[in-house]
Amino acid sequence: MSLKGKVAIITGSTSGIGLGIARGFAKAGINVVINGLGDKTEIQGIRNELGSHGVKTLYHDADMRLPGQITDLVETTVHKLGSIDILVNNAGIQKVSAIDEFPPDKWDEIIAVNMSSSFHTIRSAVKHMRKQGWGRIINIASAHGLVASPFKSAYVTAKHGIVGMTKTVALEVALDNITCNAICPGYVKTALVEKQIADTARTRGISEDQVVNDILLAAQWTKKFVTVEQVAGTALFLCSDDAQNITGTSLSIDGGWTAA
Ligand code: NAD
Repeated sequence: MSLKGKVAIITGSTSGIGLGIARGFAKAGINVVINGLGDKTEIQGIRNELGSHGVKTLYHDADMRLPGQITDLVETTVHKLGSIDILVNNAGIQKVSAIDEFPPDKWDEIIAVNMSSSFHTIRSAVKHMRKQGWGRIINIASAHGLVASPFKSAYVTAKHGIVGMTKTVALEVALDNITCNAICPGYVKTALVEKQIADTARTRGISEDQVVNDILLAAQWTKKFVTVEQVAGTALFLCSDDAQNITGTSLSIDGGWTAA
């Protein structure tokens, strides 16, 4: 089945991995709904670029901390573009801090954006996907959905939660022609990681080069950052007919990190 004309929501798609997925989807003829923080002019520029592939685009500014706005993102998509066929839960934030110094409000924010927002998008989208008899749910988890690193308690907790949510949802929608999978990337050099390099250098009292070589890429046996295009290609594959029987799984793209 061609993916041309399908409608995808990608949360947190104004930069990084989400934007990469939106670009990959638009090139494949999928209409894309963009979401995330950012400058209105830049967001319009992104829409123009995506639209140049001949697809419809929409921007919705739902704050992924707020359930009412998240529901509105899904309902507005169905109202304006006619369906929600593919849901990519990608919005995410990070905070690097020791557990005994971790700010409680930051903990709540990370759990809300990185985990609970996916519950709200999924619970809203599934009823439409069931009616259509087709759907794809892709949760951008992380290698940190499978293993831990110190000083990332909220992030690791949220990402492990997403992996669990993925399995549960997959079982519930298995007979509805809907699949639900997680992608678990290793380190991708996006704004999120650039900030983390600086934070980790401060927290551990080492240089930024040491963070990259001795911490981030130490875990990746290929010694290469994952690219947004590689994550986008995997997401596109999960939408294909060949992936119909792949559900409830976590696909690692981590240069061997979690194999060790
Ligand atoms: P990024 O900072 O480039 O992008 C994050 C996106 O989320 C942006 O569009 C931002 O506007 C949006 N966002 C943040 N808070 C939001 C809120 N309250 N409401 C709506 N949107 C919000 O980061 P990225 O690296 O592209 O991360 C994307 C996802 O990939 C995250 O879930 C992250 O955990 C995951 N991930 C990233 C890496 C990596 O190395 N970069 C590795 C594994 C997993």
